[in-house]
Amino acid sequence: MKRREFIKSSIFALGGTALMTTGCSSKRLYKAKEQVARRKFKNITVPLLGLGCLRLPMDGKNVDMIELEKMVDYAITHGVNYFDTAYMYVNGKSENAIGDVLKNYHRKDFLLADKTPPQMMRSKEDVRRVFEEQLRKCKVGYFDFYMIHSLRPNTIENYRKYEMFNQLMEFKKEEKIKYAGFSFHGSTKMLKELVNEHPWDFCYLQMNYFDWDVAEAHQQYDILKNAGIPTVVMEPLKGGNLVRLSDKAINKLKEHYPDTTPAEFALRWVASKENVMTVLSGMSNLQQIKENIDTFVNFQKITAEEEKVAKQINSIIKEESEINCTACKYCMEVCPKGINIPVILSLYNEFIPPKRYIAFLGRYNMLDENERGDKCIKCGLCSKTCPQNLDIPELLSKIHTLYSDIKSGKIK
Ligand code: SF4
Ligand code: SF4
Repeated sequence: MKRREFIKSSIFALGGTALMTTGCSSKRLYKAKEQVARRKFKNITVPLLGLGCLRLPMDGKNVDMIELEKMVDYAITHGVNYFDTAYMYVNGKSENAIGDVLKNYHRKDFLLADKTPPQMMRSKEDVRRVFEEQLRKCKVGYFDFYMIHSLRPNTIENYRKYEMFNQLMEFKKEEKIKYAGFSFHGSTKMLKELVNEHPWDFCYLQMNYFDWDVAEAHQQYDILKNAGIPTVVMEPLKGGNLVRLSDKAINKLKEHYPDTTPAEFALRWVASKENVMTVLSGMSNLQQIKENIDTFVNFQKITAEEEKVAKQINSIIKEESEINCTACKYCMEVCPKGINIPVILSLYNEFIPPKRYIAFLGRYNMLDENERGDKCIKCGLCSKTCPQNLDIPELLSKIHTLYSDIKSGKIK
């Protein structure tokens, strides 16, 4: 890790590191000399790295507030002042926890993003009731970024039925939110519809160098870019999979860039995309924050050479997968039912061999019902075009059966 050099004229110490303190005595505002890169967003700037509050440090069943305070202090000190929470995170404890820490700072010194859960709404009134509860839990008078959480096939109905976008516009008029957006886990077709429906300020998208080709992240990113909607990146490390690379993949990275780490490489890759406003990383301890901040201080965009290495690592990941799908998508060009074949096969590879059944269930549920394996009519056209000679109808049937067995509790 790079050595940090702080401004020495400090009157406050954190973890043995001297920092400068400014501002009114009852609120905190410390600045380290080294600040993370920022991107312009409308009339403000946003740090290229944001702190996701989903995987907070835990002390048994409760959030470890001492560790969280240290993390937030270190983050804000280095310019990471974007905090992202949600009603559902940490069994509802995330908003309270981050609110309890952020109340020690001037409101103007941090950006807070929160999410409203469409699946929990039973009436239009619920949307406002939940919103007011969220403001109370976070101990703020307004959210900088407020969004509909996880628009996907099974949440879109409530979003429309309870006119959630219009309600966000009311909150905006009341100056209780500054920017309105949504986080997205649906199909490319659904994203196009949403983008055309309303003038969104921003959108959260799952993006990393592996999903770029396999999970349509590239097409979805382009839709947002062309519509002028900045992207906030979720899962830049693919749930940790791009950190836990195989020996072969790590050797490929080290052969070219011996000093880089898999996490640094993946974060730089995604942050290099110009329409990205900020990259959220779910950090659980101070050490992770320090390492990630190092990546974004003096941030360097990924080079064309590094781009090639990312593709080579992708190929190794695909080669080593149980189902050897290369995500070329030739099968999708011929499938009369529009089944999302490469995504289904990649969900199997990612979650089934390591027995991460609940995660598999959650991700399979996010697929549009028309894109799932049970819609296959076994015409066989896909297998005829597959360069890997995969028996696709058989694989889809096996994977959908697994899905049904996990859902019914037959497989645990
Ligand atoms: S066999 Fe199934 S997946 Fe393959 S092309 Fe036909 S309908 Fe699509
Ligand atoms: S054609 Fe074969 S290798 Fe290509 S995406 Fe489809 S299943 Fe994967």
